[in-house]
Amino acid sequence: MSLDAMVASILDRIGPEVGQGRVADYIPALARIEPSKVGIAVATLDGNLYTAGDAHEAFSIQSVSKVFTLALALGRAGSDLWQRVGREPSGSAFNSIVQLEREHGIPRNPFINPGAIVVSDILLAGGRPKETIAEILSFLRWLADDDTVAIDAEVAASEAETGYRNVSLANFMKAFGTIDGPVADTLDVYFHQCALSLSCVQLARAGLFLANRGVDPVTGRRVVADYRARRINALMMTCGHYDASGDFAFRVGLPGKSGVGGGILAIAPGRAAVAVWSPGLNDSGNSHAGTIALEELARETGWSVF
Ligand code: GLN
Repeated sequence: MSLDAMVASILDRIGPEVGQGRVADYIPALARIEPSKVGIAVATLDGNLYTAGDAHEAFSIQSVSKVFTLALALGRAGSDLWQRVGREPSGSAFNSIVQLEREHGIPRNPFINPGAIVVSDILLAGGRPKETIAEILSFLRWLADDDTVAIDAEVAASEAETGYRNVSLANFMKAFGTIDGPVADTLDVYFHQCALSLSCVQLARAGLFLANRGVDPVTGRRVVADYRARRINALMMTCGHYDASGDFAFRVGLPGKSGVGGGILAIAPGRAAVAVWSPGLNDSGNSHAGTIALEELARETGWSVF
C-alpha cells in the first residue's frame, strides 16, 4: 500500500477513538480546542509529504517544543548542559516535583517540565526573555522552512496565569541553584516555547533532521551533530512520554515526544518524521488517538526501531 493510502486508511480506522480521553483543561486556552480534531503528516527523507485529516491546521505543540529547545541549547551549552539536567526516565508525571528534592534540584531529564525549564534557563543565559523567545521562534521557522510558524500569545498568557505548578518547580530549582536567571524570566521563555503553534505538516518537517543524523535532508543544512541527533532520539524513546514512555516504546517502537495539546512527533530514523494531532489525552497526558495512529503506522510500515 502507498504511504498516501496508508495514512488515509489509518485516519479512517481510528475515527472511533478520536474525541476519547480528555482535552487538557488546566491551561484554559487549551480547554477550548475541538476534541474531534485529528491530523497526521509523514515527512520522508526524500522530501515527500503524506497527510490526512486536519494536518494543515496549527495547534499548540506544548511539550513537543522540548525537543527543539534541547537541540538549540545543546548547540549553545554543549555537553555542560548535562551538569544541570539528567538523562533518566522519570517514571513520574510531567509536572511532578517529588524527585527534585531527593535529587538536589537536578531534574531527571529534559523532557519533563522541570528539565525543560532548566533548558529554557540555559537558552536565556542572562539575556532578555524577548530575545530568547525570538531566537526559539526563528529556530522553529528555520527547521520547518516556513516563516508563518507562530507563538500563540493567548496560550502563553493562559499558561502564565495558571502555571502554579511550573512556578513552584522553577522556584524549587532556583533554591538549589539549578536555575540562573530570574525565575519569572526563565518561565516567560518556557511558557512561550510551549505556546508554539504548528500544524502536523510543519511539525513533521521541523523534526526531519532527527531522522537524518542531524542534517535537514531537504536543504542539506546541518542542524545538530550526528551523535547529538542520536542522543536526542534516545531521550525521546526513553523519556518522551513521561511515565508512559515504556508503553509508547512497547506499542510504537519509535522515538517520540508528546505534548498536552494532543500532538506527538515521532522519528523513524533513516526514513521519516511523523506528526500526529488529536487533543483527547490519556491518563498520562499523551494523545489517545494519536498514539493509536502511530501504533498502526509503525505496524504497517515496519518502521519500529526494534
Ligand atoms: N505547557 C505545559 C505545562 O507546562 C506543557 C506540558 C506538556 O505538554 N506535557 O504544563
